[in-house]
Amino acid sequence: MKLIYSDRYDLNLGNHVFPSVKYRLTKEKLLQDKVVEPGDFIEPPPASDDDLALVHHREYLRKLQTGKLSYLEVMRLEIPYSPELIRAVWLSAGGSILAGRLALEDGVAVNLGGGFHHAYPDHGEGFCVLNDFAIGIRRLQKDQAIERAMTVDCDVHQGNGTAAIFGGDHSVFTLSIHQENNYPYPKPPSTLDINLRDGVEDAEYLAELEKGLDQALSEFQPGLIYYVAGADPYRDDQLGGLRLSLAGLDRRDRLVFEKASAKNIPVAVTLAGGYARRVEDTIQIHTNTIRIAKEFAK
Ligand SMILES: [Zn+2]
Repeated sequence: MKLIYSDRYDLNLGNHVFPSVKYRLTKEKLLQDKVVEPGDFIEPPPASDDDLALVHHREYLRKLQTGKLSYLEVMRLEIPYSPELIRAVWLSAGGSILAGRLALEDGVAVNLGGGFHHAYPDHGEGFCVLNDFAIGIRRLQKDQAIERAMTVDCDVHQGNGTAAIFGGDHSVFTLSIHQENNYPYPKPPSTLDINLRDGVEDAEYLAELEKGLDQALSEFQPGLIYYVAGADPYRDDQLGGLRLSLAGLDRRDRLVFEKASAKNIPVAVTLAGGYARRVEDTIQIHTNTIRIAKEFAK
């Protein structure tokens, strides 16, 4: 199984609730725990502007590249603008395109970054600048590598940008399971939204997810799933109000891969959020996801 990663994925956020150093720390832990080998990592090329324009407005891309976002646009991102940030998100989008391509070959591939599901065509918000996996879907459709795709978004926050991008597009099924009483507001409808109340624990979460996956995969046959494997449904997350344990998150990951594998659907993984009080927990959750992903690769 290939992992797509760059040292330049770091969003250069300084002391921020989003620990963007997590990408490098997860890579190091994967090597230290011997989950993967150094040769399994691939450095992505940045996405081309034409790739990005399959999802995003050219004017928004131009403002990002030239540092011309307004004060309000930067406020809405909730992360500081920097040239390093722009380089990182262009690379992350390239990484998610590549993860999609490699998943089609190997059954499973991982972008050790991305999952920026709050980014809309014309603006970014909630730490998300470019919707990397929406770009991946559009690129692979344009290449005729896939006709239909599904997004399975298990980040604790609803995938509003993704829902807005693919709303009304019958070639993409968007599934989001999230805490209802949390950012973002409003929540544009996904194809299937599973709205969970505050404090939901492992058993109820897993039952709801299984029901949702069964429903989605009986209605719709995608050529590829992008799995948005947010670490923030964890019970000790600072920005999430669900109460999943580490074991519960393992079972969540396994459920997604098992359901996809039973129907021979390739899965491309992106990491998305994770704000555990101890950054080690976030790293552990991402590492576990990748260990489980590897079991399902060809
Ligand atoms: Zn999140």
